[in-house]
Amino acid sequence: MKMHRTLYYKFIVAYVVFAILSFVAVSTFTSNLTRKQLVSEKADTLYREASILANSYARQIYSGKITPDNAWTQLSAVDTYIDCPIWIIDSSGKVVLNTREPYSKMSDTLISDFNPAQNNRYYMTGDFFGCFTEETLSVFAPITQNFSVRGYVVVHSPMSSILASRDSIMTICYITMLIIVLLSLLILVVFSEMVYIPLRQITTATEEYAKGNYDHKLEISKNDEIGYLAGTLEYMASEIARSEDNQKKFIANVSHDFRSPLTSIRGYLEAMKDGTIPPELYEKYIGIVLNETERLTKLTNSLLQLNNLNVKGILLELKDFDINDMIKKTCETFEGTCTKKRISIELVLTGERMFVRADKGKIQQVLYNLLDNAIKFSHDSSVIKIETTEKKDKVFVSVKDSGIGIPKESVGLVFDRFYKSDLSRGKDKKGTGLGLAITKEIIQAHEENINVISTEGVGTEFIFTVAKSKKFED
Ligand code: ATP
Ligand code: MG
Repeated sequence: MKMHRTLYYKFIVAYVVFAILSFVAVSTFTSNLTRKQLVSEKADTLYREASILANSYARQIYSGKITPDNAWTQLSAVDTYIDCPIWIIDSSGKVVLNTREPYSKMSDTLISDFNPAQNNRYYMTGDFFGCFTEETLSVFAPITQNFSVRGYVVVHSPMSSILASRDSIMTICYITMLIIVLLSLLILVVFSEMVYIPLRQITTATEEYAKGNYDHKLEISKNDEIGYLAGTLEYMASEIARSEDNQKKFIANVSHDFRSPLTSIRGYLEAMKDGTIPPELYEKYIGIVLNETERLTKLTNSLLQLNNLNVKGILLELKDFDINDMIKKTCETFEGTCTKKRISIELVLTGERMFVRADKGKIQQVLYNLLDNAIKFSHDSSVIKIETTEKKDKVFVSVKDSGIGIPKESVGLVFDRFYKSDLSRGKDKKGTGLGLAITKEIIQAHEENINVISTEGVGTEFIFTVAKSKKFED
């Protein structure tokens, strides 16, 4: 929540700053430019008028074709028409004619520092050498006679009219700006809401997830970055939920597997103590108790091993070794059990020697677990086949039995921790259901694969891969 608020205010502040800056820019820059443009346009127009007057009536005064009196009447008419006072100033700066003063009462105004040639422009703004109180635009056109400047026609126009039209243009500018600012504010608000609403949903969701409520659903189905974020977040929550679930299941399984042997051990011991079991039967029951403790030891060892595999991750001691040799040695360790069940092991090995690169101890454990299962779940007097095949840079090792098989619905579960199919329970009471979980963990640590093919009542085949050794390749 807080996070959004600051974000939102940052947006708004940035926006307000932007709006103020644009207004400042328009009110100074645009206003000045407009004023300049209007002044020069007006000056152009007035200059044209002034030139015409300079070349007609004004010149005629100097050439004596017209009396100043007469000229005044003509120029007054023009003044009325264009609504601008018209003056004629001679080159010494004396105002010889002013349409706003009756000719008879003309005062001899002398503009001492009159110098129209300064700044190289034909117009000026200001009070025209102190002649006006308000700001005025004055445009002058030279009156030439015989190639010399005799004087100037000066047309004055109060700046107030130019400023008024500038202000009306500026009003239009401000209104346009206001519309743009409001429109962009609208877009800003819509956009930030578009971001804000899902953001708030995501924040609530993360809070829920933190509380442990992984079922909380995010109803954001957009094909944009936020939708993607929400999807990823949901996926993360489901993964956490799943792993937490697995953890709980795991602990439940562990507790169960520990409790049953402990209860039975305790039961037998109590029965011995209180005399329910007579001393002459002790041997039998101590045998059972020993069996149970053996099971507990096996369980603890497997758990420790699984935990080590998990904690250490991929900590393999890779080396090159002959897998054929290893298979033969592993089979020998099962000789006792095999003869008891009259099971024979058939080896179909590729090559005299087959060098692979892997962690020897761990791969031996894999083979041991698979062979142990195959023997456990085989019927008496059957054959187990171990086969190696070479494919590209891999060696495939298969352990195939014709035992009880795995029910179809359990095939996908045999690698899960503590999983034991119902079918196998009668055959093997000591099994922990951790053997294949360890096996899979080892194979995955090698970045190899293990697969199972099984038909209930027919047999089972486990196949795993190992990397061929590069050194011993022929
Ligand atoms: P442990 O390996 O700790 O003695 P386990 O053998 O029961 O216990 P796993 O090796 O993980 O545990 O095997 C899990 C289950 O998969 C077995 O209980 C059994 O139901 C089934 N299974 C595994 N291998 C075979 C097989 N070759 N034939 C039939 N079922 C099998
Ligand atoms: Mg096993």
